[in-house]
Amino acid sequence: MIKLENIKKSFKIGDNEFEALRGVSVEIKRGELVAIIGQSGSGKSTLMNIIGCLDSPTSGSYTLDGADISRFSPDALAKLRQQKFGFIFQRYNLLASLNVLDNVALPSIYAGESRGSREERASKNLEALGLSEKAQNFTNKLSGGQQQRVSIARALQNGGEIILADEPTGALDSKSGLVVMDILSKLHKNGHTIIIVTHDPKIAEYANRVIEISDGLIIKDLVKKDERNELEKQKVRAKPAFLAFKDRLVESFRMSIGAMLAHKLRSVLTMLGIIIGIAAVISVVALGQGSQEQILAGIRKIGTNTIDVLPGKGFGDLRANRVRTLTVSDADTLSKQQFLDAVTPNTSTSGTVTFGSTSLSATMRGGGADSLEVNGLKLAKGRSFTKEEVDESAAVVVVDDTSVKSLFGGADPIGKRILFDRQPFIVIGVLARNENGFNDTSILRIYAPYTSVINRLTGSRYINSITARVKDDVNAQVAEKNIIALLEAKHGKKDFFTRNSDSIKQTIEETIRTMQLLISGIALISLVVGGIGVMNIMLVSVTERTKEIGIKMAIGAYARDILQQFLIEAVLLCIIGGGIGIGLAYAIGYVANDLLGYKMIFSNTSIIVALITSTAIGIIFGYMPAKNAASLNPIDALSRE
Ligand code: ADP
Ligand code: MG
Repeated sequence: MIKLENIKKSFKIGDNEFEALRGVSVEIKRGELVAIIGQSGSGKSTLMNIIGCLDSPTSGSYTLDGADISRFSPDALAKLRQQKFGFIFQRYNLLASLNVLDNVALPSIYAGESRGSREERASKNLEALGLSEKAQNFTNKLSGGQQQRVSIARALQNGGEIILADEPTGALDSKSGLVVMDILSKLHKNGHTIIIVTHDPKIAEYANRVIEISDGLIIKDLVKKDERNELEKQKVRAKPAFLAFKDRLVESFRMSIGAMLAHKLRSVLTMLGIIIGIAAVISVVALGQGSQEQILAGIRKIGTNTIDVLPGKGFGDLRANRVRTLTVSDADTLSKQQFLDAVTPNTSTSGTVTFGSTSLSATMRGGGADSLEVNGLKLAKGRSFTKEEVDESAAVVVVDDTSVKSLFGGADPIGKRILFDRQPFIVIGVLARNENGFNDTSILRIYAPYTSVINRLTGSRYINSITARVKDDVNAQVAEKNIIALLEAKHGKKDFFTRNSDSIKQTIEETIRTMQLLISGIALISLVVGGIGVMNIMLVSVTERTKEIGIKMAIGAYARDILQQFLIEAVLLCIIGGGIGIGLAYAIGYVANDLLGYKMIFSNTSIIVALITSTAIGIIFGYMPAKNAASLNPIDALSRE
C-alpha cells in the first residue's frame, strides 16, 4: 500500500543543509502493525510526517495505493489526510476550545458529513474506547491516558485506514501506555494498518514488523507473521457539496464565536474602532438630517417669499451690528411698491421688564402691523397691534410664551400692565409656542409697534432691518433686484444687503452638507483605523493559533476551511462592532431627541451602508491574516508551540 523509494529529506539550518533522511526505501503492506524504532534524532518523526503527507520529501518517490503523491495538489493531500490517515500524537493535540465529542467529530466536518451522523459515529467511537461519559467534557479535564484515547477516537472518525502514531505512549505513565497499546493492537487485529514510532523496545513487541533507523537510514527490518481480519470500512456519509458547504460555514461560525468568547476583552477592544466609527457616521448623518429638517421647517413657517433688508455689507460684515443706514422712511418707500404685499420695519432694544415684583431682562422687538405674520409668528391668545396703534405709537405689546411662564407665573397676562425700562405697556396678545426649536428660552421676547419702540424707548430713527413679503405672483429674485435698486438710489450707495429666505435655505443646506461630509470623512478614517486594528488582532490570533491550524490541517482541513474560519471571525468582529455602533448611535439619538431637544433623524440607508461598510472592512482587513493562516505548511504549523 505504501511504497517509499530512496526518500531523502534535508533541512536548512542556517547556511548548512542537514540530511535527516538519507535514502529510505520501504514498502508497507495493508494491515501491518509496523514499529519504527531508533534513537532520538534518527529521523523517525521526519519519516512519519512524510508518510502522513504532512511534509514532502526533498527527493525520492512515494506511492500510496499506486498513486504518486508528489503530483498531488495541497487540496488532494488534505483529502488524503482526512480520509486515509488517522494521526495520534505524543501530546494528543486535541483542541482545547472544543469538547470531547466535537474534537472527535471534527474530521467529519471537513469530510462534509452532516451533524447528526457524524456525532452518532463519534459517540460510537468514544463508547468503544470507554469514554462515553466524557463526551461533553472539555479536554483539559481529562487525564493523559483519556486524552490519548480521545485522539485515537478522532483518528478513527473518518475510517482511519492507516493510523500513524508518533510516540503515542511517550507522555503517558506505563499503565495508560499499556491501555493505549492494547487498543492499537486490537485495531490492528481488526484490519487497520498501523505505524508506530517509538524508542521503547517493549512497545515494539506489539508490532508484527520492526523497522530500525539510525542517522536517516534503515538498518534493520524484521517481520513476524500474525493473524488479522479484513478492515471494516466506516461509512462516512458525505453530504452533497452545496449542503456540506453550508454545514461547514455553520461550523466555522460556531468555532469563530468560540474563539471570540475565549478572548472577550481583546475582541471588544478590537471592535472599539469599528463601534466608534460606525456610531459617528450614523449619528452625524442623523444629526445633519434632523437639523436640516428643523431649520427648513422654521423657514417654511416664515414663508419662502420674504426678503430681508439689513444694514452693512453682508453677514460677514463685523460692523453690521453698529451700522446704522436703514430708516423708517426706507420702509415707507418700500411699502408703497406694488410688487410687495406687506413691509415691516424691524427694530429692537433690550432692557428690563417688570411685572409686580418680578424684573427680568427682555428684548423688545418693534414691527409694523403685519410684523407677526411676516415673521411667521402665531398668536395663541388676544390680538396683534393694529395699523392705528402703530401710527399712534400705542403702548401695547404682545408677549411670548416664555414671558407668560416666567413673568406672569402662567396666569393670563392679557390686559395686564407691564413696565419695560420703566415705560408702561399693556399686554394685548400672547404668542403661540414656537415649534421650530431654535428659540433661546433664556430671554423674554416682547413685540410692540416699531413706532412705540422708537418713540417711547430708543429715540433712534434707525432700524435694524426691513422685512418685505413679496406678492405671490412676483418672482422673488426680481423683487429683490428692485428693492436693491430703489434703496440704492435713495441712499446714493449700497450700504445695505438683502437676503431672501430661499437663499438662506440653500446656504443652510450647503453648510449642513459640508459639515456632514467633513465629519463623515473623519469617521471614515476612524473606520479604516478600526479595520487595521482588526487586521492586527487577526494576525496575532493566527500566530497564536498556529498549532490549532496545524492540528486541523493534520486531520484533513482544506486550506479554504482555514481561510473561511479566520475570515468569518474577522467579519463577525466587524459586524458585531457595527451592530453595537448602530445601537450606540440610537442611544445617542435617544439622549439627543428626548433629553437634550436636538433632532436626529435616522435613515435606513445610513444603517444599511454602515452594515455593508463594516462587513467590507471585515473582509478587506481580515483577508490577509486569513490567507496567511491558510497558506501555512501543515508540518510547520503543527510543530510550532
Ligand atoms: P526523531 O523523531 O527520530 O527523534 P526527527 O525525525 O524529529 O527525529 O529529526 C531528525 C533530525 O532532523 C533531527 O536531528 C532534527 O534536529 C532534524 N530536524 C527535524 N525537523 C527539523 C526541522 N524542521 N528543521 C531542522 N531540522 C529538523
Ligand atoms: Mg520524533
